[in-house]
Amino acid sequence: MPIAPRSHRLADLTWPEIDDLRPHAPVAIVPLGATEQHGHGLAQRTDTTRAEVVADLVAQHLSPKVVVTPVIPVGVSEHHMAFPGTLTLSPITLQQVIVELVTSLHRHGWRKVYVLTGHGGNNATVEVAVTRLRTDLPDLHIAWSGITPVVSDLVSKLSESRIGGHSSEIETSQAMFADPDLVLPERLTPGSSTFDDLDQAGKLSRSRPGIHFPQSYHDLSKTGTLGDATKSSVEIGARLVEATVERISGFLQDFLDLPERQSAPTLTRIPQETP
Ligand SMILES: [Zn+2]
Repeated sequence: MPIAPRSHRLADLTWPEIDDLRPHAPVAIVPLGATEQHGHGLAQRTDTTRAEVVADLVAQHLSPKVVVTPVIPVGVSEHHMAFPGTLTLSPITLQQVIVELVTSLHRHGWRKVYVLTGHGGNNATVEVAVTRLRTDLPDLHIAWSGITPVVSDLVSKLSESRIGGHSSEIETSQAMFADPDLVLPERLTPGSSTFDDLDQAGKLSRSRPGIHFPQSYHDLSKTGTLGDATKSSVEIGARLVEATVERISGFLQDFLDLPERQSAPTLTRIPQETP
């Protein structure tokens, strides 16, 4: 019998509703955000809201097969702490939160989980948490991504600035589409958008592909932003968010089809001739 849940958000449902929905919704998305400075024209909850909106749209697209947990609204934002109002968790705290939240889902029967981070500063922590979960819960299928990296080909087409990323025209456009209340259009300003806008360490950090040389944002930009938010538009945001939802949904369609993972690996030895 087809099932039409009142919501795909776990927190909106009662436990009997979840009990009924669970066999029909084998995938859980865990959205992660941040509460950190986004320059003069974007609200601190930008990454949290972008993650929530993409997770909701994916779940609607694949309804009723996907549930969404509450978003974790604070991430690893140490590199933004010079700006008033940024909140940060240490990497080890966020790692533990992800591990315990996914373990809760596993205890209730979910064996397929997708962690979706709206904040790139969470990536290293997500990767470690996923490594731990794959060790602790061998029958779990767990995948993760950011939002913007899923459409990196579109980002390079649609970016006008040489330097981009945090609060750029790309992120600001996504925010305009995700929730117009995130944006104060009259206060958007260009940030560091060319190599000439960066100091010596900033230039070095951005000029060698594959080499990681992390910088704090107060060293990279006076406004706390990279790229040029004044070049953003809701149309660019719609193209980016719709493509992101389509690609993550496409992955999850195939993820849903995967057979359940066994707790212990089954290895077949290739017979070898004795010398
Ligand atoms: Zn952001």
